This record gives sequence, C-alpha cells and structure tokens, in this order.
Amino acid sequence: MEEFFNVADIFGENVFNDSVMQERLPKKTYQKLKQTISEGKELDLETADVIAHEMKEWAIEKGATHYTHWFQPLTGITAEKHDSFISAPLPSGKVLMSFSGKELIKGEPDASSFPSGGLRATFEARGYTAWDPTSPAFVRQDAAGATLCIPTAFCSYTGEALDQKTPLLRSMEVVSEQAVRLLRLFGNTTSKRVIPSVGAEQEYFLIDREMYLARKDLMYTGRTLFGAMPPKGQEMDDHYFGTIPERIEAYMRDVNIELWKLGVSSKTQHNEVAPAQHELAPIYAQCNVAVDHNQIIMETLRKVANRHGLQCLLHEKPFDGVNGSGKHDNWSLVTDDGINLFEPGKSPHENVQFLLILCLVLKAVDKHADLLRESASDVGNDHRLGGNEAPPAIISVYLGEQLEDVLTQLISTGTATKSKKGEKLATGVKTLPDFRKDATDRNRTSPFAFTGNKFEFRMPGSQDSVGEPNVVLNTIMAEALCEACDELEKAKDFDSAVHDMIKKLATEHQRIVFSGNGYADEWIKEAKKRGLPSINSLVEAIPALTTEATVSMFEKFKVFSKVELESRAEIEYEQYIKSINIEARTMIDMASKQIIPAVISYATELGLSIGTIADACPEADVSTQKELLIKVSNYLREAKDALVNLRETNEKAYTMKADSCKKANFYHDKVVKAMEELRAPVDALEMIVDKESWPMPSYGDMIFEV
Ligand code: ADP
Ligand code: MG
Repeated sequence: MEEFFNVADIFGENVFNDSVMQERLPKKTYQKLKQTISEGKELDLETADVIAHEMKEWAIEKGATHYTHWFQPLTGITAEKHDSFISAPLPSGKVLMSFSGKELIKGEPDASSFPSGGLRATFEARGYTAWDPTSPAFVRQDAAGATLCIPTAFCSYTGEALDQKTPLLRSMEVVSEQAVRLLRLFGNTTSKRVIPSVGAEQEYFLIDREMYLARKDLMYTGRTLFGAMPPKGQEMDDHYFGTIPERIEAYMRDVNIELWKLGVSSKTQHNEVAPAQHELAPIYAQCNVAVDHNQIIMETLRKVANRHGLQCLLHEKPFDGVNGSGKHDNWSLVTDDGINLFEPGKSPHENVQFLLILCLVLKAVDKHADLLRESASDVGNDHRLGGNEAPPAIISVYLGEQLEDVLTQLISTGTATKSKKGEKLATGVKTLPDFRKDATDRNRTSPFAFTGNKFEFRMPGSQDSVGEPNVVLNTIMAEALCEACDELEKAKDFDSAVHDMIKKLATEHQRIVFSGNGYADEWIKEAKKRGLPSINSLVEAIPALTTEATVSMFEKFKVFSKVELESRAEIEYEQYIKSINIEARTMIDMASKQIIPAVISYATELGLSIGTIADACPEADVSTQKELLIKVSNYLREAKDALVNLRETNEKAYTMKADSCKKANFYHDKVVKAMEELRAPVDALEMIVDKESWPMPSYGDMIFEV
C-alpha cells in the first residue's frame, strides 16, 4: 500500500480547472474565458494565446512533453494525435517550448481513417478538431510519459459532425433554450440556462490477464464465442454487493486515484450481479463533461487493470449465461442556479410545473421510443436488449406507484386531489398532491425509470459512449418543451391552459407508462397491444435514425442534418458488418486450429485406451469409454459440419454485392445463426472432454478465479 494521502489534496491535480485558471491567468483573460464558457461565445485569438501559454507552462510542470486534441470519433472510443511542444530549432541549436492559441482552439487531423459514413470524399480527408472549453483540459500521466489532453469536437471540412461531442453540445444548447422558455412562463426570471446533468454508472468485468491472453475470442472480439457454463453461475446471488477481494480492491483503489487526479469524481464501487462483474459510478456532472469523464473512466479501467495483471472487459456480454454489462445513464435538467426541473417540489405551484415537465418527458419518450432504443444499440448490446436479460428491449417509463396514481386521477377526473399514501389534501380545481421521493419501490426491470429527481436510462451498453443517448434525450425533450411553449405562450388563461395540457398529455401518452415486470412474456403482448415498438436488434433499430419524425426533429433544432443522420446509419451498419465478420472469423479460427484438433487428440487417446484395455483384458467392460467416444465423435461431426457452414455463410456475406443495410441484415439473420450452430456442439464437447485436453481456459477458470 502507498503512503497515506488526502483525497482532497490530489483531486483534480492534473486538471486545468477553474481554480488553476483563476490562479494562473491574467484577470481579464480569465473573465473572457468564463464568459465564453457561460455564454457559448467564441474566443478571440489574443485571449486564446494567453490561455495556451499558461496551459502549456502548467502542463510542462506536470511533466508533459506533448499535447493532443482528444476527441471522440464514431468508433465508440477516443482518438488523439500527439504533437510535442517543441518549436523549430533556433540558430543556436536549441528549441523553445511553444503552444499557440491557434493550436489550442483548432486542430486539423487527417480524418480519412475515421468512420464518416460517406460524409467526406476520401480526397477531402481534412477534419477539424475544435476545443470545447466547457470540458477542462487535463494532463494524463503514465509510464509512457505525460500528455496535455484538450477535449475537442471533431467535424469535417464542411462542418458536418464526425463525432459524439458536436451533436451533444448542440443538443445541450437547444434543450436549455426551450426549458428556459418554459421556466419564464412559470414566472422564473432568474435562471439563465438549463443544463442536462448526467451520472453514468459503468459496469465491467475483471479477469486474470493470463487467461485473457489464452482466449483468442476475448482478444479479438471482447467476448467469449465459445464456453460452457460452470456448475455454478450467478444463481446464489452471492456476488452482488459481496466483499470485494483484496486483489480487486487494490485495483479499484488505483483506478480511483487516477480518476481523482483527473478530476473524475469516482464515488461508488461495488460487485455486480455476475461473478467477476463490478460497477463504478461517479457523481453526476454537466452532460458533456460526464460523457468525457465516462471515456476517461473506461480508458482508466482498462489501463490500470493491465498493471495489476488483470484484464478489464467492457463488452456488453463477455460471458453467456451470466448477466451482461450496461451503463445506466442518470439524466436530469438543472438550472444554472441549481433548480432541478425533475424535483417534484413542495408547493402545488411547483407541482404543476413538475407535472407538466413529467408529462412532456412521457410525450418525448413515447413519440421517439424507437430513436431512444436506437441510441442505446450497439453490436454487443444485442446480447442484452432483446436477449433474456435486463432491461427489456421495449421502451417504457416507470414512474413509481404514487406518481402513476396521480396521473390516473388526472386522466379520469381532470384533477388529482390526493396522493396514494392516504394523505388528505385541500380540494380545489388545481390542487395537486405533495409528492414524496419514491425511492423505495424501485423497479429494476424498467428501461427508463423515474428515480426521485432524475430519470435512469438503463439500456445503454457498457462499452458504448453515452453521447448518443444524451443527444437523443436532450433533443426529444427540447422538442416537447418547444411545442408546449408554442401553445402556452398564446394561451389567454395560463393556469387552465397548463391544466388542460397536463390532462391531455397524460391521456395521450399513458401507454408508455408501465410499472410491472418488464421480463414477463405478458408485457411483450401487452406492449404490442399498446402499439409500443419492440425492437430486438441493432439492425432493426438503425432505421429509426432516418425516419421522418427523427429527421424533422433533428433538423428543426439543428442538432443533426439529414445527411449527418444518414451517415450515422451507414456507419452503424458498417460497424455491425465488420464486427460480426470478425466474430465469425475468430470462431472459424478457434474451431479449426484449436478446438477440433484438441477433440481429435482426445478421441484418439480414448480409442487407444479402449484398444489397450481390450487387449490386456478381453473380459473388461469398456462400454463407458465406447459411449463416450461415440458421443464425442458425434459432436465432433456436428461441429465440423457447422464449421463448414459458417465458413461458407460468412464468405457469402463478405462477398455479397448489396447495400450495407441488406448486408448487415444478412449477417444478422444468417451469419449469427451459423455462429450459434457452431457454438452449441463445441460447448457440449467442452462439458465432456477432459479438462486437461481443452485448449483454453474455461468459464469457471475465468470468472471464479480472479
Ligand atoms: P443508484 O441507486 O441507481 O445507484 P445513485 O443515487 O447512486 O442511484 O445514483 C446513481 C448515479 O446517478 C450517480 O452517478 C449519481 O451521481 C447520479 N445522480 C444523482 N442525482 C442525479 C441527478 N439529479 N441528475 C443526474 N444524475 C444524478
Ligand atoms: Mg442505478
């Protein structure tokens, strides 16, 4: 264990945060930057020069030799290109360390190798990165050295977004604008901005690195493509919140120290449901910062694991048969002066505003359920959503018993006059009950749950960026707020207009509210009756990106253009195709080079031993060995046939001349099925073949021996 330290001392020590800026920047420069940050103004070059200089000096003190524009292309992870601070050598042969305002605010990486979905012609490969001054720069230190990282947005030469951050920043602006409009109608004259706030809980698996290196499937695809369940799975519920083993605790401690230094407020850690599964949650922050921090968290989890001889698996479903990993996106709207719009409030007046906003969330989620579902889709998440595990693939909203009851009263009588727990309230046309935080009866199966003063979107995948879900949440909310304001601004009697609107919205969008068991088959039937979309895979989800409702909303609020949306759909199809192709090829490789040869050796040994025994002792009963040999040979035959089929099917898919949508669907319908058909006999073989002969670590080795 390291020497004692105080968390408060190290927190944010590698971040060019407000206090560092205040200390190091000339007063005028600091004020200009603050203004830029709070009002979204553009920074002039002179000011940028001063900031860049100070940032460089500070970074060099932290050991930095290089700087990088740190951005989030549509690969799901971050990208960076490092430049050192050195200037051209002087006549004396020495160099100076320099960093200009221009270098701080704008970069021009060659963008031709990042996914663009056809947005840029290859001859026009230039992309731009632009500083996001609302997310602070930081110095990343590790064994490889130290680098100043500047969070940036990434656009094409013609200004189209090629990343997660650009649309996110756009969506934050629009939801703020529309929410402030509504607040003004309710008499709030002080709040200037409304900031989407996000806390993303991150789930992950940890296994021994040696075991990881012995599994090609984990190395190439992040998940196991073969593997039989050990005798024990997660049925004992003994891992969730269980004591954290010392090795893991030491790892978590190191992760926390790294994160705290980078200003990431890592707060909660615990074991998750599946063996070897854990969770980390930071304290919520402004949306774009939270999205950046989540990327830092994922990078740190991976990096620190290797130092501890561990491997961190961020894939949504590394192991079949035990729970997969997600990322719960806790989302709320908070004003710059600290009012949470999802806080139920104490007085009826606040309650009216709250109820309206709540109903607007219902409207937004109901209208764009398909898009929200799409925003949480990635290749790995297909094994969670629509598989038989949390959360279900159908979007619904959980409100809790009390709120749901209030909505029901509103719909049936037009007013809600009591709250469920029997409290009497003064009756009156517009009286509404006093809400209590309903934190006790949580529904863990709901994909979108109201949890006291925030919504928890539980669908996003563990390795995916939470950028997209938040772009969607912010924008669908902006649209609902905008439509409400358009109507209310014209109303003669505001109070009764609001009242009618709440009743109308509650009635129209009640179908999205569901508090029952989301895993039950009855819910799937019921949801169908209600007309809610049930989308079971990524390829089925992608079309939601380009529907009329999606395009017109995003274009109206200038978050995405139609072309940008089409390019994103294209990128997702391409990513699906590439990922499944890699998975199929990895399976083919493992089956033909490792598994089948190992099974043949085993069968041969078995055959030889039968012969040996029969020779030595003709009376001996070798029927058990014979039965085993027959079983092994049959599965072997099955595996061989399935391998041939997978090879052919994948080849057919790979050489198919079709658009990416058709191709992706073929991979989904045919290749994935062929993969499953190969896995089944191989997993059956693993159960009967001698453990010593099996060519890779088993599930038991990997998830119970960390
Ligand atoms: P859970 O029971 O789901 O673990 P927590 O209270 O621990 O709930 O919160 C989970 C995450 O939600 C944390 O990252 C927390 O900071 C975040 N969170 C709490 N309040 C809000 C809020 N108002 N808006 C957004 N996120 C929030
Ligand atoms: Mg949670």
